[in-house]
Amino acid sequence: MAAHSTVSRDCEVRLTEDQDKEYVGFATLPNQVHRKSVKKGFDFTLMVAGESGLGKSTLVNSLFLTDLYKDRKLLNAEERITQTVEITKHTVDIEEKGVKLKLTIVDTPGFGDAVNNTECWKSVADYIDQQFEQYFRDESGLNRKNIQDNRVHCCLYFISPFGHGLRPLDVEFMKALHEKVNIVPVLAKADTLTPLEVKKKKIKIREEIEQYGIKIYQFPDCDSDEDEEFKQQDQELKDSIPFAVIGSNTVVEAKGKRVRGRLYPWGIVEVENPAHCDFVKLRNMLVRTHMQDLKDVTRETHYENYRAHCIQSMTRMVVKERNRNKLTRESGTDFPIPTAPGVSDSETEKLIREKDEEVRQPPHTQTQEQECVTQECVDQECVMHDECVQESVQEECVMQEESVQEAEHCAELC
Ligand code: GDP
Repeated sequence: MAAHSTVSRDCEVRLTEDQDKEYVGFATLPNQVHRKSVKKGFDFTLMVAGESGLGKSTLVNSLFLTDLYKDRKLLNAEERITQTVEITKHTVDIEEKGVKLKLTIVDTPGFGDAVNNTECWKSVADYIDQQFEQYFRDESGLNRKNIQDNRVHCCLYFISPFGHGLRPLDVEFMKALHEKVNIVPVLAKADTLTPLEVKKKKIKIREEIEQYGIKIYQFPDCDSDEDEEFKQQDQELKDSIPFAVIGSNTVVEAKGKRVRGRLYPWGIVEVENPAHCDFVKLRNMLVRTHMQDLKDVTRETHYENYRAHCIQSMTRMVVKERNRNKLTRESGTDFPIPTAPGVSDSETEKLIREKDEEVRQPPHTQTQEQECVTQECVDQECVMHDECVQESVQEECVMQEESVQEAEHCAELC
């Protein structure tokens, strides 16, 4: 018996040694990535937008269990009429089980408050572009190691529960920003509506989003090998859009338990009760399940669009500049200029004189022209200007210029 057990132990040891020989170790890669990411910490920037008084700050405080709006000054009606849209930023470092998160909340006080709200989304769009621009500059600079990422990863857009679906301002805002940021629509103050009203409003809002061609954040499709329960949860999440939310900064007692809620004469509305609202679904989506995807979409789609747009504009500038230089060089040659049919000799001479004058124009005129080109760049919502072109992204330009040269060469051959 003893001899038998010694033999089986020997077998086991040999088996483990054999397995060890086959084990290279790359199975630990996820652990290495995990350790490194935890050490570095995470960051996330969330924007909240929508008319004043819809409960944005209350919801943010409820979501992250912090008081992010300690020093907020509320304006009276008169002050709000003249107030323009302001952008404010609050940053908190939160830690949970050793994982650090730098959370930035970007608020847009004043949005929709004025009597005339035409283009009041513009300062919000400019803010998002400025963050992209800063990132683009940092990325093209020398110290790329410690870039601070301030790009907006998600925008919670608050829709009023009191209207009939979307208001024109909601449509305008979302359409102006949907190519720049992940928009997640929320139906504010859902406790002011009956469950049936919430259901009807959600359907109406979803229809209008479709009708107006608004591209809100799309949850990624779930993998086919996921279990049924996960697939069902995923579908429920997609069907919850816009999330009907309730916020509260007070803790009340309900059925012997202390919960975050709103106390009414007829009962208590619990913020974290899934039967009362979609608060938990929204929080899980934002923090537990889709935070990384929101960051990935920001980087791979929205920022990439911005970057491509900038590079295109810069390429156009470089080509224009090259063509102008080419013209200067060519005008110095003695080649005879062919006369266009139907144009008399004196007209041709006049044309040549005009062209020569154009080419010999003083430098200040050229600067003006350059500024025009830059303006074109700005007009196309590209905030990068020539200073930037000359400094940080020259390399990109040269690369682009080379491809343009190739294309031109091709065209000449044709
Ligand atoms: P903000 O201007 O959008 O940031 O709105 P606030 O968070 O300052 O909220 C404005 C008012 O609405 C405050 O009196 C809040 O107590 C109240 N409020 C916030 N969230 C809710 C909610 O979910 N339901 C109801 N009924 N009132 C809310």
